[in-house]
This record gives sequence, structure tokens and C-alpha cells, in this order.
Amino acid sequence: NKEFDENKVYKVGVDTTYPPFEYQEDGEYKGIDIDLIHAIAEDQGIKIEIEAMDFGGIIPAMQAGELDIGMGGMSITDERKEKVDFSDPYFEAGLSLVVAKDNESIHSLEDLEGKVVVIKNGTTGAKFAEEHKKEHGYETVQVNDSTSMFQEVSNGSADALIEDYPVITYAIAQSGLDLQVVGERLNGDHYGISVLKGKNDELLEKINAGLAALKDSGEYDEIMNTYLGE
Ligand code: GLN
Repeated sequence: NKEFDENKVYKVGVDTTYPPFEYQEDGEYKGIDIDLIHAIAEDQGIKIEIEAMDFGGIIPAMQAGELDIGMGGMSITDERKEKVDFSDPYFEAGLSLVVAKDNESIHSLEDLEGKVVVIKNGTTGAKFAEEHKKEHGYETVQVNDSTSMFQEVSNGSADALIEDYPVITYAIAQSGLDLQVVGERLNGDHYGISVLKGKNDELLEKINAGLAALKDSGEYDEIMNTYLGE
């Protein structure tokens, strides 16, 4: 249905935990994605409900008709554009290589020969790791959420991980994880808000209008400052 329905409660899928974009505190969802979508919804008169799940489950749940909107620090990619339509970009991100804080031997992908790289199911980081696996001679192991990915490297089960740099730098700064980012950024991308392809044209127009209004009013900057500082 391409028509927007003002009485419908649109379900928004977000990652289980992906600070500063989404996390739970005192039983409440918080974070950049959460504040942004609530502000857009309020500006445009969209009723929404947040549903947290493993990131890899968001697009499949949209395709199954269980979710209307997908977020979760979701990068805009050509592959995903075959399944979803994206809003205008709302955040600049990209991937970084991450190792244990006391690791002195891995500085780039070139140092991963014979090593184990932990990846998170369904992410751009996982795709990147799989694409460069043969060239650099490492193995991959897969988990479903970022917390598990960080633990695998902290406890030595894996040698490295690939994560979005805004997320890993925030995690290291906030929770003092014993991890470090190494080397150059692996790529650059942008986050977008997604809806099922070709099925929610009016909803997407409203999302874009709301996003533009928040940028004009300064509310977008306020949300960013709340979580990232000035
Ligand atoms: N931005 C990355 C992606 O779109 C990671 C998102 C996430 O792990 N929540 O795949």
C-alpha cells in the first residue's frame, strides 16, 4: 500500500543494541535513531512503535510484512536498494578494523594472514570481511550482535573485528572496552532510514520532509549533540 495511513501504527525495527544509535536505559529506548524517528514522526503526524531485534533480521522482517521502517545505523547500499527504498542520508559513517588494545602485530588488513575475524551477520562489515578474506588469508566467524563481536576480540577468541567507526569509537570512549581501532578507515558510507521498496512512497516522502524540517529547525543538531557532544 503506497498510501500513507494516519491511523496506522508504523513499526520501526532497530538493532538490539548499537549505541549511540540505539540502546536501552531504564527500560527505555534511547539514541540518535530513536530520537530522530520520534521527532520525524511528531513533525509529520506518523504513529510509530519501536521494535528492537538483531540487525540481520530487520530487512527480512520488513519483507515479511512485520516491520514498516528499518533503522539501526543502516548503511545505504546498492544491494539493499534492491529490497528497500532509503530516505535521504542522515549520518556519515564507514568501517574500521579493530583489534585488542594490547595487540601490537595487526595494523591493517595485510596483517590478518591466518587470523580470525569476527563479523556481525547481515552488516556491511560482514560483507567487506567476506570480500577481502581470500586476498588476506583470514577466517571469519559470525555473531548476531555487536556486543558479542566486541567480546570475541576482548577474550581472544578472535583476532579482529570490523565495525562502523562512529560506533566503535563511541563504545571505546564510553565503556572503556579494551579494544583499539587500527589503520585507515576501510570505506565510507551513509546511514538512511528504509521502507519496503516501492510499497511506501508517501511514508518515505514524509520521512524525508520530517528529516529536512529537523535539519532546518536545529533539532537534528540538538539530537547529535546530545549523544556525540558539540
Ligand atoms: N552500518 C552497518 C550496516 O548497515 C552496520 C549496522 C549495524 O550493525 N547495526 O550494515
